[in-house]
Amino acid sequence: MDAQHLSHRLAQVADFVPTGARLADIGSDHAYLPAALALQGKITMAVAGEVAAGPYENMAHEIEKNGLTDQIIPRLANGLAAIQPADRIDTVTIAGMGGTLIADILDRGQEQLAGVKRLILQPNVGEYRLRSWLLAHRYQIMAERLVKEDDHIYEIIVAEPSLVPFCYSNYELLFGPLLLEKKDPVFREKWQGYLQRQQGVLDQISSAKQPPIDKIKQLEERMQLVKEALADD
Ligand code: SAM
Repeated sequence: MDAQHLSHRLAQVADFVPTGARLADIGSDHAYLPAALALQGKITMAVAGEVAAGPYENMAHEIEKNGLTDQIIPRLANGLAAIQPADRIDTVTIAGMGGTLIADILDRGQEQLAGVKRLILQPNVGEYRLRSWLLAHRYQIMAERLVKEDDHIYEIIVAEPSLVPFCYSNYELLFGPLLLEKKDPVFREKWQGYLQRQQGVLDQISSAKQPPIDKIKQLEERMQLVKEALADD
């Protein structure tokens, strides 16, 4: 993969970036995402943020290699601290991390989010936690997409600040309000795979000398919820 050839997952994230965006890509690693969007002429400018020195150097190299130093600014910073007021960032992408880490980054960077109109988030796990943060901070989920790459199914969540109060149920926070509406074949594959894995865990812990009753009950309840989501049409 490079800026000319995005992975399927990152290409789907890029798809949600509005034309003309002033983008901040946080945890950008090689800056493939902003570089690809700049090469396509889709964005006005971008900040590529990285907390670690190695990936920061990779970003700087990729930006220079593609002749994008006028359009993309690499910054070594923790989370949304990469964004400065003069950047006038309107779109933020955070991809390829756990949902808890993404929620923490958003939480610590609320000041920088003031002028941001769209968040495009791709958690590897922990989607419930991330949707809960969005709900608690009055973000409305505008789009959701499941992306299958290699052996993993990723969720992309697009959220925008909302003036109107709204509510998501626990069920929607877990499965995704818009993914639930569609329940497409990838949704079924994701949750059937989850059920299979959890059944393995359940079999294992149930056969222990002293089975952990509370954990078993919790697991069975969650699995029942998943079965209902898969059955209910
Ligand atoms: N966004 C790219 C993607 O989706 O392919 C790269 C994902 S990579 C697995 C995660 C990157 O996030 C790492 O390079 C890591 O250094 C960076 N990262 C983790 N925590 C961060 C934080 N608090 N602020 C900025 N970058 C962070």
